[in-house]
Amino acid sequence: MNGFSDPQLVRSLARDIAALAEKLPHPVTFMEVCGTHTNAIAAAGLRRLLPANVRLISGPGCPVCVTPVGYVDHAMALAQEAKNLVATFGDLLRVPASSGSLEQARASGCDVRVVYSPRDAVELAAAHPDRRVIFLGVGFETTVPTVAAAVLEAEKRGLANFFVLSGHKVMPPALEALLADPTLRLDGLILPGHVSVIIGARAYRPVLAKYPIPAVISGFTPVDVLRTVRELTRQVVEGRAELANLYGRVVREEGNPTAWSMVQEVFAPCDARWRGLGDIPGSGLALQERFSTRDAGQFPVAWPTPREPAGCRCGDVLRGLIDPPQCPLFATACTPDTAVGACMVSAEGACAAWYRHERFA
Ligand code: SF4
Repeated sequence: MNGFSDPQLVRSLARDIAALAEKLPHPVTFMEVCGTHTNAIAAAGLRRLLPANVRLISGPGCPVCVTPVGYVDHAMALAQEAKNLVATFGDLLRVPASSGSLEQARASGCDVRVVYSPRDAVELAAAHPDRRVIFLGVGFETTVPTVAAAVLEAEKRGLANFFVLSGHKVMPPALEALLADPTLRLDGLILPGHVSVIIGARAYRPVLAKYPIPAVISGFTPVDVLRTVRELTRQVVEGRAELANLYGRVVREEGNPTAWSMVQEVFAPCDARWRGLGDIPGSGLALQERFSTRDAGQFPVAWPTPREPAGCRCGDVLRGLIDPPQCPLFATACTPDTAVGACMVSAEGACAAWYRHERFA
């Protein structure tokens, strides 16, 4: 045990929140937009420590979950070609496409390999000069610097057979889309700690100036999260809407300019489609013109019209409109072993987190 999970401190914070909650003018809903927070909150049972008028909901913080079906369809179409070797992080493997999954494609003979970093995919390109090695780039600002580094390394080593299918996404435009949505009534945001390490607190300021709301950059321990909830609750009680950085031990105002400038060297903003949120301007990253020959999107393949899994309500979960147990398939037809949607497949998904930690709570 350390200071970040000290039971006495946790209880004390819970008491503070309960006392503040008595002064709330109305019940409040705070959204976390980070898959690691989703898991941390569920694993520590933090919802059960909060008063009834303080609700935590999950948003679009799991990168695999927000990746639309069409991206997986595209990846599967690329995998069908014998010349292509598709390299992916493991959590994308079982995500349902319109028909089947990358795992099933692999079982039927397609060359789909799990890698632990984009650099592993560069090594595959070096080891297989006669193949096109296509890395499936899925992830937020936390992941994309490693992909940018892989592209630059492939350039340096003259590996013309390394490609990226970029499905990367950036968080501030998605936050703006959420805050602009009149069907959502959010009272505060728990901002993603890891993403913030890269982009810094300053990246949120424009959207929070446009849509003022209490917002806290948070760490991941129980004490971190409860301090964040206490700060959000206090801001609502006091009628404030400010950005607070409670993860100052690793997040700076300016973020990590070295990592982000490498991203900007390799990628440029583009419009992107999110599962559940639809098309959001400027929320994706495409390869810069200079690296366009490494864009796997250039290869002429066809894939079916994207189709969401029947009955799956991942889109509503990702917009915070429902908690996972409100999906009729939760823990019945849909379990981690029989996942119907991406939110149950990915370890960072809200449905998987609720299944693992909150099902019998
Ligand atoms: Fe989709 Fe399964 Fe979650 Fe329901 S429980 S929203 S089917 S992933």
